[in-house]
Amino acid sequence: LPKRYADSTESVWTEYIQMAIDHKPLNLGQGFPDFPPPQYILDTLRDIASGPNYMLNQYTRGFGHPRLVSALSKLYSKLIGREINERTEILTTSGAYEALFSTIMGHTDEGDEVIIIEPFFDCYEPMVKYAGGIPRFIPLRPKPVSGRLPTTSDWVLDKDELENIFNEKTKMIIVNSPNNPLGKVFNEDELNHIADLCKKWNVLCISDEVYEWMVYEPNKHIRMATLPGMWERTITIGSAGKTFSVTGWKVGWAYGPANLMVNLQMIHQNSVYTGVTPIQEAVAIAFEKETERLGTDECYFTSLPKELEAKREFITKFLVDVGMRPIIPEGGYFIIADWTPLESRADLDSEKDEYKDYRFTKWMSKKVGLQGIPPSAFYSVAHKHLGENFVRYCFIKKDEELQKAADILQKWK
Ligand code: PMP
Ligand code: GLN
Repeated sequence: LPKRYADSTESVWTEYIQMAIDHKPLNLGQGFPDFPPPQYILDTLRDIASGPNYMLNQYTRGFGHPRLVSALSKLYSKLIGREINERTEILTTSGAYEALFSTIMGHTDEGDEVIIIEPFFDCYEPMVKYAGGIPRFIPLRPKPVSGRLPTTSDWVLDKDELENIFNEKTKMIIVNSPNNPLGKVFNEDELNHIADLCKKWNVLCISDEVYEWMVYEPNKHIRMATLPGMWERTITIGSAGKTFSVTGWKVGWAYGPANLMVNLQMIHQNSVYTGVTPIQEAVAIAFEKETERLGTDECYFTSLPKELEAKREFITKFLVDVGMRPIIPEGGYFIIADWTPLESRADLDSEKDEYKDYRFTKWMSKKVGLQGIPPSAFYSVAHKHLGENFVRYCFIKKDEELQKAADILQKWK
């Protein structure tokens, strides 16, 4: 086994998706919607498949299907406030996953340090290691609150800790806002502090913004690339799966300045080479439609977060009712909750895992019939204890499914 893969183990997804297949719990684990995407999106793909332009079944341009990079350029030029060149400043990929992989591989040299904010989307760590980089972890720390429920704005980076982790070996920092699994939306001050350090130390920022449209009032999504002096050093990552509720389509993208994009284009060219054509065409058409009605109530980017906000209220309430302690997310479609007030109701000894949240969530999946994800999966080994008291639930589910989850917890507690 090559050394750089030697400490790779089965990911939480591989393990928990198999468990969901084997035990059929109500699944609030892996993040995906259980309701249909907008009907016009499904119709679009059908029309592409059965329509007259059969050439849409052949290879397309390697760095991105022309119609899609053009649609992305129109939308993001508007949002970023500068002209984004569709040929040189955008790459479409096989999901945001590949965009992350190509960006990390394309920019990391042996021994480069990469700062990762915890809790983090779990694939960042192995990707950095495969590229020969050294991940440096810094956890968000919850501030004590009293008299109200905590929100993810109470989870913050320690200023000194952040300043001290940057050094001359730092090559990049990965920022994920809205964050998975917490749902924290970094505010302007927080992003500016990170941006200032990136400029001070000449560091590249990977801004994973796959949940950019799922932000709850009064929070605002701020794009890192719009902050002063940051376009030049930021690669932003997005996902059609999240944007249009079609996680199975696996189309993602990265955009940034041409001199940085070449590096990921090379990785993409020599691994995946070209993405699927009909799906990219459908995503392009969806973007054209939503860009035209951006900011209106009909726009999916307006209606989806409204729908999700009600689900967030519902799940928060029932988690409190059963005695868990949720952290109210400002964005994204996950919520984490402290389950330890109910620890005596669970048979943790029936599972063998090292971390308590794994034992809890496995026992719950198998014996109580509700699946959540153990948040310690989103921490480095040294910090896994920070996630052990929590469980992550996904709430982009039909109201009746969320009601069933509430009933399962009520019956169990
Ligand atoms: N980044 C984050 C933070 C995610 O939650 C996900 C979802 N798996 C991805 C990237 C990957 O997105 P995709 O499904 O488009 O590959
Ligand atoms: N982003 C989704 C989640 O966090 C899916 C992750 C995955 O399947 N790797 O649940």
